[in-house]
Parts: sequence; structure tokens; C-alpha cells
Amino acid sequence: MVVVIDPGHGGSDPGTTGAHGLHEKKVTLEIARRVEDILSQHARIRVVLTRTRDRYVSLRQRVYSSRRHHADLFVSIHVNSSPVARVSGGAVYMLSAHGASSIEARAVAHAENGADPDLSGVPLAPRHKQLNSVLVNLAQAAAIRNSDELGADILHRLAKVEPLVERRVQRANFEVLRDLGVPSVLVETAFLSNPEQAHLLHGAAFRDNIASAIADGILAYCHVHPPMERVNVSRGPKQNVADDNR
Ligand SMILES: [Zn+2]
Repeated sequence: MVVVIDPGHGGSDPGTTGAHGLHEKKVTLEIARRVEDILSQHARIRVVLTRTRDRYVSLRQRVYSSRRHHADLFVSIHVNSSPVARVSGGAVYMLSAHGASSIEARAVAHAENGADPDLSGVPLAPRHKQLNSVLVNLAQAAAIRNSDELGADILHRLAKVEPLVERRVQRANFEVLRDLGVPSVLVETAFLSNPEQAHLLHGAAFRDNIASAIADGILAYCHVHPPMERVNVSRGPKQNVADDNR
């Protein structure tokens, strides 16, 4: 089972910045590495990080490397920011086929997508145009349904660590989640704009708790969804993508 963990931002793209100059890109990498540590203890799981150091990786590259490693699921890790300092807590987003579920979800998607200006408006997988749209719709429907489950599994555990912005998995049109064809979620772990959470994010204990919540959510999801099911549902149409271009 291949789990891709995607530490948001990196290199020339610091993401959001909190008090005392703590950058989102540093927090996301440290949480991602901790998630990797926990999941790597499970023999049936192989973890792939989309970056392992402080370097810029485009959203397109993140998706391509997930495909190359035959990802079974994809979890992007971010830190949130709000102009209102008292706003705090965690949130989980998944791709929506019908746009963002709220104004806030739209704003978050805009901020995270904005990290990669080259990508705006460019389809991630032009090859898909040749593919029978029924297959695309089937794959997306399955991936969206499973993303919702994966997101809920993570959210449920995140609730034990911190307050939640929303108790449901939010829907937003994130470039990095679009068109991957596997269950994919984006976790906004906490708010760097909130002084209290920024202070917590400086320390390893809070980051470890967040990482454990994410890892446990992933394990719970994997437990209920054996690999065979994902091969039939998620991988089937991906095989057809290759056939279609032969
Ligand atoms: Zn971010």
C-alpha cells in the first residue's frame, strides 16, 4: 500500500508565516516526517514524501510523483492562516466536483493554489481528454467518496488534539487534489496566524500529536479499504488511461 504524504510548500515558497518567523514549509515537513515515521512501522505500508527537504516542488510535480509511485492515497499537509487572530483549529479538505462548500473553503483553496502561479488554468492531465468521460466520472466518483471517508477518519482523530474549524470534511477545488484518481485530502493542521497555535507549532509535542492523528486516520482508512478494492475501483480507469494513449 503506497501512501503519499505531501508536505506543503518548500524552498522559495514559504507558505504562511507566523509569529517569530516560523514558516509553514518548515512545519509541514516536520509533521510529514513524523507521519512517515509512524506509518513506516507498518510492514504493508510504503510511504513516499513529495519532498524530503526544503526545496520548491510544483503542484504538478507533486501529482506526477504520486502517479509514478502508484499512490493508493494522497495526504497533503498544510498550516492555515486567517486575518482574524483568534481563529484556530484544524480542518480537512477534499476535492469537490461542484466547487467549494463555503466562502472560507474557496479562500483556502485560492491561497494554497496560488503558491503555484504557473499552474493556474492549466489542466493537470491533458491526456485525460482522450479518455471516455464515463470512466473519468466513475473514477472521480469513487475517489471523491473515498476521500470523504479518509478525511473523516483523520478529522475524527484531529478533534482529540485541537478544536475543529468545521466538524465535516470541507470541499474545495485544490489543484493538488484534482484529477489524481485516488483518495486525496488536504489537512490544514492549525493556524499559524493564531498566537497560541503558533506557539504550539514551535514545539515538537503538538506537532507529534497532529502527526499521530493524521497517521491514525490513514491507518483506520486502510484497515477498512483492503488494497484489492482500490485496485478494482481506483486503478481500473487509470489502466485505461494508458491503453487510451497507446
Ligand atoms: Zn499551505
